[in-house]
Amino acid sequence: MSSPTFDCTACGACCFGGHDRYVALLPEDRGRAIPETATTEIEGGRYMAMTCGHCAQLTATPEGRLMCGIYEERPEACRAFRAGSFECLRARAHRGPLAEALRAFAVADAPSGSPEGPVPVPPVVAAEGPPDPAHP
Ligand code: SF4
Repeated sequence: MSSPTFDCTACGACCFGGHDRYVALLPEDRGRAIPETATTEIEGGRYMAMTCGHCAQLTATPEGRLMCGIYEERPEACRAFRAGSFECLRARAHRGPLAEALRAFAVADAPSGSPEGPVPVPPVVAAEGPPDPAHP
Protein backbone atom coordinates (compact mmCIF):
# COMPACT_ATOMS: atom_id res chain seq x y z
CA MET A 1 0.00 0.00 0.00
CA SER A 2 1.27 3.48 -0.71
CA SER A 3 0.20 7.07 -0.95
CA PRO A 4 1.66 9.92 -2.93
CA THR A 5 3.59 10.89 0.19
CA PHE A 6 4.10 7.67 2.13
CA ASP A 7 5.38 4.37 0.81
CA CYS A 8 4.65 1.41 3.08
CA THR A 9 7.04 -0.80 1.12
CA ALA A 10 10.00 1.43 1.86
CA CYS A 11 9.62 3.18 5.21
CA GLY A 12 9.60 0.53 7.97
CA ALA A 13 9.11 3.01 10.82
CA CYS A 14 5.90 1.38 12.04
CA CYS A 15 7.63 -2.02 12.28
CA PHE A 16 9.80 -0.73 15.12
CA GLY A 17 8.44 -1.19 18.61
CA GLY A 18 9.85 -1.02 22.07
CA HIS A 19 8.51 -4.28 23.46
CA ASP A 20 7.89 -7.92 22.58
CA ARG A 21 4.10 -7.52 22.42
CA TYR A 22 4.23 -4.80 19.80
CA VAL A 23 2.28 -6.72 17.12
CA ALA A 24 -0.41 -8.97 18.55
CA LEU A 25 -2.01 -11.59 16.34
CA LEU A 26 -5.80 -11.31 16.31
CA PRO A 27 -8.60 -13.76 15.49
CA GLU A 28 -8.69 -12.25 11.97
CA ASP A 29 -5.18 -13.61 11.42
CA ARG A 30 -6.13 -17.27 11.80
CA GLY A 31 -6.54 -17.81 8.06
CA ARG A 32 -3.30 -16.09 7.14
CA ALA A 33 -0.17 -18.00 6.23
CA ILE A 34 2.01 -16.32 8.83
CA PRO A 35 4.94 -18.67 9.50
CA GLU A 36 4.88 -19.99 13.03
CA THR A 37 8.60 -19.30 13.25
CA ALA A 38 7.81 -15.61 12.68
CA THR A 39 5.72 -15.49 15.84
CA THR A 40 6.21 -15.98 19.54
CA GLU A 41 3.89 -16.89 22.39
CA ILE A 42 3.86 -14.75 25.50
CA GLU A 43 1.58 -15.69 28.40
CA GLY A 44 -0.92 -17.39 26.13
CA GLY A 45 -0.99 -14.67 23.48
CA ARG A 46 0.69 -14.82 20.09
CA TYR A 47 2.77 -11.98 18.76
CA MET A 48 5.09 -11.26 15.87
CA ALA A 49 8.62 -12.05 16.99
CA MET A 50 10.76 -8.97 17.50
CA THR A 51 14.49 -8.63 17.12
CA CYS A 52 16.66 -5.68 18.02
CA GLY A 53 13.69 -3.38 18.45
CA HIS A 54 11.83 -4.20 15.24
CA CYS A 55 9.67 -6.97 13.88
CA ALA A 56 11.86 -9.84 12.77
CA GLN A 57 10.05 -9.92 9.43
CA LEU A 58 11.30 -6.47 8.47
CA THR A 59 13.68 -6.95 5.58
CA ALA A 60 15.85 -4.67 3.50
CA THR A 61 16.53 -4.65 -0.19
CA PRO A 62 19.98 -3.89 -1.57
CA GLU A 63 18.44 -0.64 -2.85
CA GLY A 64 17.67 0.42 0.69
CA ARG A 65 13.96 -0.24 0.98
CA LEU A 66 12.64 -1.59 4.27
CA MET A 67 9.86 -4.04 3.47
CA CYS A 68 7.64 -6.51 5.25
CA GLY A 69 8.94 -9.98 4.50
CA ILE A 70 5.43 -11.39 4.67
CA TYR A 71 3.58 -8.41 3.25
CA GLU A 72 0.78 -10.37 1.56
CA GLU A 73 0.13 -12.30 4.77
CA ARG A 74 0.87 -9.52 7.26
CA PRO A 75 -1.28 -9.44 10.40
CA GLU A 76 -4.46 -7.48 10.86
CA ALA A 77 -2.80 -4.96 13.17
CA CYS A 78 -0.36 -4.07 10.40
CA ARG A 79 -3.14 -3.82 7.81
CA ALA A 80 -5.00 -1.40 10.06
CA PHE A 81 -1.99 0.90 10.18
CA ARG A 82 -2.90 3.40 7.47
CA ALA A 83 -0.33 5.42 5.56
CA GLY A 84 -0.51 9.07 6.55
CA SER A 85 -2.64 8.41 9.63
CA PHE A 86 -1.90 9.95 13.01
CA GLU A 87 -0.25 6.69 14.08
CA CYS A 88 1.82 6.59 10.90
CA LEU A 89 3.05 10.14 11.42
CA ARG A 90 3.84 9.40 15.04
CA ALA A 91 5.79 6.26 14.13
CA ARG A 92 7.74 8.20 11.52
CA ALA A 93 8.49 10.98 14.01
CA HIS A 94 9.60 8.63 16.80
CA ARG A 95 11.12 5.73 14.87
CA GLY A 96 11.86 7.13 11.44
CA PRO A 97 15.47 7.91 12.40
CA LEU A 98 15.95 4.29 13.50
CA ALA A 99 14.51 3.07 10.22
CA GLU A 100 16.72 5.50 8.32
CA ALA A 101 19.82 4.31 10.16
CA LEU A 102 18.91 0.69 9.54
CA ARG A 103 18.31 1.36 5.86
CA ALA A 104 21.68 3.08 5.51
CA PHE A 105 23.40 0.27 7.38
CA ALA A 106 21.75 -2.39 5.23
CA VAL A 107 22.84 -0.69 2.03
CA ALA A 108 26.39 -0.21 3.30
CA ASP A 109 26.53 -3.82 4.48
CA ALA A 110 25.04 -5.34 1.32
CA PRO A 111 27.60 -7.52 -0.47
CA SER A 112 28.54 -6.19 -3.87
CA GLY A 113 26.79 -8.02 -6.63
CA SER A 114 24.12 -9.25 -4.22
CA PRO A 115 21.07 -10.72 -5.90
CA GLU A 116 17.89 -8.72 -6.26
CA GLY A 117 15.37 -9.14 -3.51
CA PRO A 118 15.14 -8.69 0.24
CA VAL A 119 17.99 -9.54 2.53
CA PRO A 120 17.82 -9.95 6.32
CA VAL A 121 18.03 -6.71 8.19
CA PRO A 122 21.18 -6.44 10.27
CA PRO A 123 20.64 -5.95 13.99
CA VAL A 124 20.52 -2.51 15.51
CA VAL A 125 19.65 -1.42 19.01
CA ALA A 126 16.35 0.43 19.05
CA ALA A 127 15.35 2.91 21.69
CA GLU A 128 12.43 2.09 23.91
CA GLY A 129 9.22 3.82 22.96
CA PRO A 130 5.70 3.95 24.27
CA PRO A 131 3.33 1.14 23.28
CA ASP A 132 1.47 1.93 20.11
CA PRO A 133 -2.31 1.55 20.29
CA ALA A 134 -2.43 0.59 16.62
CA HIS A 135 -0.23 -2.40 17.50
CA PRO A 136 -1.70 -3.63 20.77
S1 SF4 B 1 4.49 -8.25 10.01
FE1 SF4 B 1 5.38 -6.99 8.38
S2 SF4 B 1 4.21 -5.02 8.45
FE2 SF4 B 1 3.85 -6.13 10.40
S3 SF4 B 1 5.38 -5.28 11.84
FE3 SF4 B 1 6.26 -7.19 10.89
S4 SF4 B 1 7.46 -6.44 9.13
FE4 SF4 B 1 6.07 -4.77 9.75
